[in-house]
Amino acid sequence: MNKVVVIGPLLLWGLLAYLSVLILAQFTHARDNPWEHTKTPFEGPAAAIGEYANGCLSGAEALPLSGKGFQVIRPQRDRYYGHPNLVNFVQQYAVQLQAEGIEQILVGDMSMPRGGQFDYGHNSHQIGLDVDIWLRLTEKPLSKAELKSPRALTVVDNQEFAIDTAAWSPQHKLMIKVAAQDPQVARIFVNGAIKQQLCNERTQADDAWLNKVRPWWGHSAHMHVRLNCPKDNPDCKAQKPINPGHGCEDIAWWKQQFYTAKSAPKKELDKPTPRKPKPLQVKPQQCEPLTWAAP
Ligand SMILES: [Zn+2]
Repeated sequence: MNKVVVIGPLLLWGLLAYLSVLILAQFTHARDNPWEHTKTPFEGPAAAIGEYANGCLSGAEALPLSGKGFQVIRPQRDRYYGHPNLVNFVQQYAVQLQAEGIEQILVGDMSMPRGGQFDYGHNSHQIGLDVDIWLRLTEKPLSKAELKSPRALTVVDNQEFAIDTAAWSPQHKLMIKVAAQDPQVARIFVNGAIKQQLCNERTQADDAWLNKVRPWWGHSAHMHVRLNCPKDNPDCKAQKPINPGHGCEDIAWWKQQFYTAKSAPKKELDKPTPRKPKPLQVKPQQCEPLTWAAP
């Protein structure tokens, strides 16, 4: 038989096989983050495993979608799971705020049913100990439709390093303070301009809790509350302790960063960069059973 007749189809077949492997790899890449696809908590002891920004969560509980003084926003995203400590914290915090005159809070993202990394957005929120609480306060409960795609309230003036005085209220300071005074809370992240405002308003009595309020980028429409590692979770990795003091001296640095970024030459704006899922992290070994047992 003519060699060309045999080799030709073989080559073609090889090429096709190679191309289909490439296409399959592309396809599976988008789906190979198991954490985004687990719909149920891992049935095991409640445990935060790993670091806040690289870990997983066993034995999660779902926060009820509403309760005394709170509602969960965007429930369709399935991010209302947490370590039982966090679920209890949110419920008890809402009740505590009601006693202080704050009727309703809106609870944003916690963790996915087994924690782990997100394809987009948060780096942390991975071990069921982080929760975003919105700064928008509502007098009465929101409707289902509103909860599905709620309107945010930004309390920061985006043009200057300052809060938006029309949006900021004493209630915001109160809600941050109540959370920071809770011994279970490790840190609270807020926009640098919010921390600056708290520092401006500060009295000596505030120094003890202001320490936990950490300036960060974004966080202008919500506060991010992070709980300490549960005592009986040896695989939960705590962050380094915060330096003592109110931390107000750090604000100058954040302010400088803000104005440097603002005056920097604009890059080719208006060109939407395609959203690519983040590369998969190498998780602590203890997270493995949580993924292979995923439905
Ligand atoms: Zn957050």
